Amino acid sequence: MNKPSYVINLCKSCGLCIHFCPTKALQFGEERNNKGHYYPIVDYAACVGCGTCAVVCPEAAIDMLKGEE
Ligand code: SF4
Ligand code: SF4
Repeated sequence: MNKPSYVINLCKSCGLCIHFCPTKALQFGEERNNKGHYYPIVDYAACVGCGTCAVVCPEAAIDMLKGEE
């Protein structure tokens, strides 16, 4: 399964990835990136690797890493 990988310092905290994640696997954490924005944390147990978060992110802060299966 593919997994989202976040370049946290590109995130601008828009929340689109969180809004569109079909399994609610994303939520903002409690830490800010180097621009002062809160960034999402992935619950990998809930993530189904659909890639929606990577498609909707306007900052291209999310890459999908190829998984083994
Ligand atoms: S890959 Fe899909 S399921 Fe996983 S965090 Fe992104 S939108 Fe949610
Ligand atoms: S869609 Fe991109 S910029 Fe917006 S909160 Fe998610 S990672 Fe950050």
